[in-house]
Amino acid sequence: MVKINENFLSMKKNYLFIDIAKRIKAFSEANPDKTLIRMGIGDVTQPIAPVAVEAMKKAADEMGNAETFRGYEDSGAGYDFLREAVSGYYKSFGVDVPASDIRINDGAKSDCGNIVDIFGDGNTILVTDPAYPVYVDSNMMAGREVIYADSDESNGFAAMPDYSVHADIIYLCSPNNPTGSVYTKDQLKEWVDYALKNEAIIIFDSAYEAFIQDKELPRSIYAVEGAKKCAIEMCSLSKTAGFTGMRCGYTVVPDELVVKSSAGAEVKIADLWNRREGSKFNGVSYPVQRAAEAVFTEEGQKQIRKAIDYYHRNAKVMTDTLTELGIKFTGGLNSPYVWLKCPDNMGSWEFFDYILEKINVVGTSGEGFGKNGAGWFRLTAFGTYENTVEAMRRMKELFK
Ligand code: PLP
Repeated sequence: MVKINENFLSMKKNYLFIDIAKRIKAFSEANPDKTLIRMGIGDVTQPIAPVAVEAMKKAADEMGNAETFRGYEDSGAGYDFLREAVSGYYKSFGVDVPASDIRINDGAKSDCGNIVDIFGDGNTILVTDPAYPVYVDSNMMAGREVIYADSDESNGFAAMPDYSVHADIIYLCSPNNPTGSVYTKDQLKEWVDYALKNEAIIIFDSAYEAFIQDKELPRSIYAVEGAKKCAIEMCSLSKTAGFTGMRCGYTVVPDELVVKSSAGAEVKIADLWNRREGSKFNGVSYPVQRAAEAVFTEEGQKQIRKAIDYYHRNAKVMTDTLTELGIKFTGGLNSPYVWLKCPDNMGSWEFFDYILEKINVVGTSGEGFGKNGAGWFRLTAFGTYENTVEAMRRMKELFK
């Protein structure tokens, strides 16, 4: 008889956003005349940059020509042209990451989930609460126990290390999804110190680094000394360059990241990761990698900035409204997410249903991201400007 992975049975039935989609579907079917404004799922609305479109078209032509056609990419780690471009991008904000430490992937979600493959079952996994659900889900699927570090109002939704607790693998996300909080360099240094002392590894998700406006805030964990000895970084072009439907991101596993096997042998984490990827991943399509390369050109950076500024403007409309209404929030300035405290002590799902019903605005229940999300709510700045203004007008009317 087949044996299933029973770990799935102890998990919540649905991924958070599938839950939300179901609620929206039920509401829309019952109220077909109502037009919803969606500020829930973190998908973008602005198209990819024209330079990326051109690069992809050119690459498509190359694929249709016997002279320039490309099949499997040899290493599956990404073409050198893109790995070099990502390395140059890191340099542009003062961080040294060699191309050889970078692997190109089909978006950060895959690697956030797949990385569990290279770690053993005995590890203590530490995830900040609330958090992007993939970190917990992928570890639960592998039957791993997860412990939590509280991110809440008392620490500005920026959980810090607790030396009385031992962790082996630590997931950090900054700018944070869902709370929009961003670690300072000093705070990240505390985590790096903790990881080095505990011989732990940090998995640092920087998917929203391009939204950081404050020049003092770190856009990579490698801005912190010592991080290359203890951190893997994952990033994505999804939100930075509108690549949610294109699928491209990158993971950095530094050559310096070395651990000991149970037999005491030194093992490079990059070797394990390359071995895992070599067996299970065949790389990202050539046209998408060419489009991604174009994003990192000077013109590409100018063009994506326009979209990022557009989302920042939306975030400002949202934070101005919440300030005016006296509703507490974090995020918005260096992040596309605004994390607000539900008014009138409402619960997260109660608030979800309330604004869906009353003003037809969809957000995300904070509770879906962990226990500390209870009573909090996430709105995204990824909508159109017009919809954002209209949603905030409705919020003002409802809560004034
Ligand atoms: N990491 C975080 C924190 C995210 O919010 C997301 C997407 O919403 C991802 C990773 C995954 O992005 P993608 O797989 O589109 O690159």
